[in-house]
Amino acid sequence: STQGETAHQQAPALPGWRHTYSGKIRDLYVPDDDAADDVVLVVASDKISAYDHVLPTTIPDKGRVLTQLSLWWFDRLSDLVENHVVSTDVPAEVAGRAMICRRLEMYPVECVARGYLTGSGLAEYRETGAVTGIPLPSGLRDGDRLPEPIFTPATKAEVGEHDENVELARVADMVGRDVAERLRATTLAVYDRAATLAADAGILLADTKLEFGADPAGSSAGADGPALILADEVLTPDSSRFWPADRWQPGRSQPSYDKQFVRDWLTSPESGWDRAADVPPPPLPEEVVQRTRARYVEAYERLTGQAFT
Ligand code: ATP
Ligand code: MG
Repeated sequence: STQGETAHQQAPALPGWRHTYSGKIRDLYVPDDDAADDVVLVVASDKISAYDHVLPTTIPDKGRVLTQLSLWWFDRLSDLVENHVVSTDVPAEVAGRAMICRRLEMYPVECVARGYLTGSGLAEYRETGAVTGIPLPSGLRDGDRLPEPIFTPATKAEVGEHDENVELARVADMVGRDVAERLRATTLAVYDRAATLAADAGILLADTKLEFGADPAGSSAGADGPALILADEVLTPDSSRFWPADRWQPGRSQPSYDKQFVRDWLTSPESGWDRAADVPPPPLPEEVVQRTRARYVEAYERLTGQAFT
C-alpha cells in the first residue's frame, strides 16, 4: 500500500485475557480468571497520534519500540522508584509490545518535568512569564535551557481534548499535599537521572511526562502513605522530547526524535488538512511513515546502545 497500514485497528483477541479499555495508543486487558485481579496486560499498538487525533495510518514496529524502550528505562530507574512491570511473558500475538503489569489506581495527573522551554510550556510562558505558576527569567526563547528543571503538572484530558497545565496547588487539591509533593520530587529525580543518561548518548531530554499509580491493595504503603509506582510508558519519543544535542539551537523549533515528520507533513499544504477544522487527519504518505519509523528506531538505538531487532 502507499498509505501504510490502515489503522482503526481493533484490540486483538488474546487467549486468557479480556479486553477492558483502550486509550489512544494502548489496549488494556485483564485475566479471564477473575481471581487474578491484581494484574493488567498493557499492549502498545502501532497507532500514532498528533494534534490530539489518532491518525488513520500506523507506524510499523512503533509498539515494540515504545515497549522495549520503556522496559530499558524501568530497569535504569529501579533504584529510584518502583515500577508496574510484573512480566514480559505475554501472548505470542503481542510479543515484544506488551507487558503484564500491576493493576494500579492511577493518579489523574500527567507528571511533566521540563529542563528546556518549548511546546505548551513556552506558550504559557509567553502569556504569563511563568509555567504552572513557576516564574521564569524574562527573555527565554523556544528551546532555551531552564535555570533548573521544573515540575509542570497537567490534568488528563478526555479523548480529543488538550491536557491542561495546572499549578501544584491544584494537584494537592486532587491527591493531597503529601502525594503531590512526592509526585513532584519523584518526577524531578527521574528527569535528572534520565537527562544524564540521555546526554551520554548525545541526546537532550527537553521534557518528559510520567504517570504514577498506587497499589489498591496498599501492599507497598510506607510510613508516608501509599508507594508511588511508576506506570504506563516511560521516556519514549511519545512521552518525551528528545533533541539531538549537536543540533540544539535555541530560538527556533528543534529537530527531534519523534513525530516531527508527521506534524510537519500534516500542517503542510500537501496534506490538505485543516488543523482548525473538526475533521480527522488524512492517511500519511509512505515516505512519512518510513522516516517516522526510522526516527523511533534511532531513538531506541542511540539511547540504549543496542540494535533494534
Ligand atoms: P487515555 O487513557 O487517557 O486515553 P492515552 O491515550 O495516553 O490516555 P494510552 O497510553 O493509549 O492512553 O493507554 C494507556 C492507559 O493505561 C492510560 O490510561 C494509563 O493511565 C493506563 N495505565 C498504564 N499503566 C497502568 C497500570 N499499571 N494500571 C492501570 N492503568 C494503567
Ligand atoms: Mg498514554
